Parts: sequence; C-alpha cells; structure tokens
Amino acid sequence: MRLYNTMSRRIEDFVPIEEGKVSMYCCGPTVYNYAHIGNLRTYIFEDVLKRTFVRAGYSVKHVMNITDVGHLTGDGDDGEDKLGKRSRETGKSVWDIAEFYTKAFFRDEEALNIIRPDIVCKATDHIQDMIALIERLEKGGHTYIAGGNVYFSIDSIPDYGKLAGLRLDDLRSGARIEVDSNKRNPKDFVLWFTNSKFANQAMTWDSPWGRGYPGWHIECSAMSMKYLGEHFDLHCGGIDAIPVHHTNEIAQSEAATGHTWVNCWCHGEFLLMGNAKMSKSSGGFVTLPSLEEKGYDALDYRYFCLTGHYRSQLRFSFEALDAARSARRSLSDRIAALKAEAEPSSFPSEAAKAYMDSFDAAMEDDLKAPEGLSQLWQMIKDSSLPPADRLAAAYHMDGILGLRLSSITAAEDGGSGAGEEEQRLLEERTAAKKARDWARADAIRAELEKRGFIVKDTPQGAILQKKV
Ligand code: AMP
Ligand code: ZN
Repeated sequence: MRLYNTMSRRIEDFVPIEEGKVSMYCCGPTVYNYAHIGNLRTYIFEDVLKRTFVRAGYSVKHVMNITDVGHLTGDGDDGEDKLGKRSRETGKSVWDIAEFYTKAFFRDEEALNIIRPDIVCKATDHIQDMIALIERLEKGGHTYIAGGNVYFSIDSIPDYGKLAGLRLDDLRSGARIEVDSNKRNPKDFVLWFTNSKFANQAMTWDSPWGRGYPGWHIECSAMSMKYLGEHFDLHCGGIDAIPVHHTNEIAQSEAATGHTWVNCWCHGEFLLMGNAKMSKSSGGFVTLPSLEEKGYDALDYRYFCLTGHYRSQLRFSFEALDAARSARRSLSDRIAALKAEAEPSSFPSEAAKAYMDSFDAAMEDDLKAPEGLSQLWQMIKDSSLPPADRLAAAYHMDGILGLRLSSITAAEDGGSGAGEEEQRLLEERTAAKKARDWARADAIRAELEKRGFIVKDTPQGAILQKKV
C-alpha cells in the first residue's frame, strides 16, 4: 500500500506500527447543522481508504469523533461555539441540536454506504480525558493561564507547524489580525476556556482551572490516544484541517508524550462549488437529502466522488452529477443483465483475476479510484469473459468502491432492464459510429427501439433507457 503523507509531502510505502493492523483516526463532524456534500466527500474518501486497507489484508481500527462542544466559528479561538450559536438561533438546547444532527449525519453515511467507524466518540463524553491531558501539558510546562483561559504555548516546543510547513516568521506576522490579547504568541491556542466572552455557554464542566469547557483541538488528541494509543498509524481529514486544527493537535499530543504521535497524515481535497470551497457559511451549501429530493440516489454522489482523485479538487455541478448518474445506471443495467444470466463465479478465471489485480493495484497506489473505475468498466465490457466471471470481478471491485452492486436489480435502480444482448448491440453501435458506419449505427438504434429501448448519448458514452 502506498499513500501520500502530508507530513513528509511524498508518497510512501505504508509501514504499520503493528504487523497486519491499521489504527486510523478521522476527524468527525461538528454537529450543529447538516453535513454538506463537501464534508461528505471527505468521509467517502476515508471510507474508500479504509476498505482498501482491508482489501490489502489489514485489520483496521477506525475511530471517529463527534464534535459537540468547543468548535468555535473562528479558527483562532475567536467567534463563538458553533453549537451554542445554533442553540441561540433556534431556541433548542445544545444537546437536542447535537442529537438531531448526529442522527442526520449517520443517515447520510448509511445512504452513501460508508462503513460505520468501529468507535464513534462524542467530545462531551470525554471531558475528563481532555482535562487529564491538559494537566499533563501543564506539568510539562507547555501551558499558561491568561484572562482565565488555559493556553498552549507553541514556543514551548521546537517544531510547531511542521505539518503545514509553517515558518515561524510567517506565524509572527499573524499578529496583525490577532484579537485575543491574552496570547503570548498569536498562534497559541486555548486548551480550556473558563473566563471567556461566552458567559452564557450552555455546556460547562468543573476543572482544576475553574468551571468551563475545552478548546476544539484537545478533544481529538485525547480521544484518539484513548482508543488508539499514544502512537498510531493514520490520521485523516479534509485539507482545511492542516494549518490550524491538525497542527495544534500535533503540537499538544507530541508535547504531552515527547514522541511522534501519528505516522501518516492523509488529507482529502475540497469539493468546489463554482470556484470556491463548498462551505456551510457560503451560499452554495448542498446537502445529500436535497439531492435525493431532486431524484438523485445517494450512490450517484458516491460514484461522482469516485471519478476524482482524493488529492485533486472536484468541482460539483448538476451536469457532472447527471453524468455520474447516467454512468451508474448504465453500470446497474449491465450488472442486472449479468445477474440474469449467471451467479458470480467462486473460481474466477485468470483473465478475471488479472482485472481484479490491476484494480487492487490502482487502489493500493495512493487510492487511484478513477483508474479503478475504468478497470471496472473495461472488465464489464469484456465479452471474452463469461458473465459469472464478470460478476465475481465486479463484486470484488465493489468491496472498495461501495456502490452496492450486489444488491442491484434493474427495476429498483431506475435501470433500463436491458439485457446482455442489448448491451452488446449498444457496443456494436458505438463501434459502428467510430468507424463512421452511420447506416449500421442507425440500424442498431432502430433494432434497439424495436426491443423497447431508447439510445442516449452521454459524456460517459451511450446508454439505454426503457421506452415509456
Ligand atoms: P466540520 O463538520 O466542519 O468539522 O467538517 C467535517 C470534515 O469535512 C472535515 O474533515 C473538513 O476538513 C471537511 N470539509 C469541509 N469542507 C469541505 C469541502 N468543501 N470539501 C471536502 N471536505 C470538506
Ligand atoms: Zn480533529
């Protein structure tokens, strides 16, 4: 398995800490609103990563947190608690808000066929672990108290900012925009808030520093170490977490333990809306339920995400989503047609295995999902392979792609119900068009119409639709 490590800035061979095992921590959602499909792109990437590790023979322990306290609207400890703000706006309690959006999040994950992490941990259930970690940092001389809050001093460690490649003089220049005059260094961050400007913060706990609540970053350090130990394999998230959240997680974790905390950092690129990152604060906020209301299946969106490499930006548009839907429907048609003819083979031929191997190789080479998809298509269209082999290979690949191919029925999936013979005709028509044999192409189109199917040309190639 080869993976790009944000820390080393190169693709590396993955070397597990413990033979055959992967310990993986993914920053989870802040549950003050619905996840947008940009957030969901990151969770799909993490799911594909985990499935690829499992395919490569590892046993994966996957931990994800739920942020239900301490995540402020500003990354520099400014703004207010996102859940508190939402509570004020809606008149609902923070607990009700957290419960509602946590449920909505897992509904989305389920619809996207994302495998649930082995451990899902809520920040508010782990306040004592965070307090213990802050005490450890305090003993090590990494903290100071100012204005009632406990701060982490980034000057107490030699290598702050190494993940993002931040330079210390760049950090100093941040002073211009700094608002918190308690901070000795503008990049210091809060571990524990007591005397903060949010006097009516709903969720507070007793601590050695007074009643208050934790900063955002400390939760991920405390919970990941609790469930995965003080040195683990993999930490994932979206790239926006690199300069502040993950940088601060590393600073406090390594200051506390005195050694490397995480071996490999994996970050997913943004989903763009127009030319900007999709975000909750911007206008282009699209949720999965809003796509489903428009008639898309959640798996159309998963398919769309698989068409881009996780380290490249992916631009969302309804045209692009339509193309993904057409391609997925066409795939469903073919699977349904194969199913009508055969059961997946338990002993696939060498030729089928060669397709599976090149698919696995693409995925194990820094998750080349677009290449994996194209292997799937090539294999499915290869009529030299018997249907039983093609089904077996498709299901094998779907173990990572997660498109639920084994539960497809043409009718259920909005598929056309076209059979193997019709798919073969469709391919013949494509070949005829390529050879500029228009008469043959038209004759095949007419033949397909007679059989009850309309040929539609899409950016993904020609597909069949049932005539109504
Ligand atoms: P949040 O709920 O805001 O803490 O974000 C959840 C996850 O989504 C984090 O890993 C973010 O890095 C990621 N994320 C936020 N915006 C986007 C986006 N436009 N595209 C991809 N991932 C994103
Ligand atoms: Zn985190």
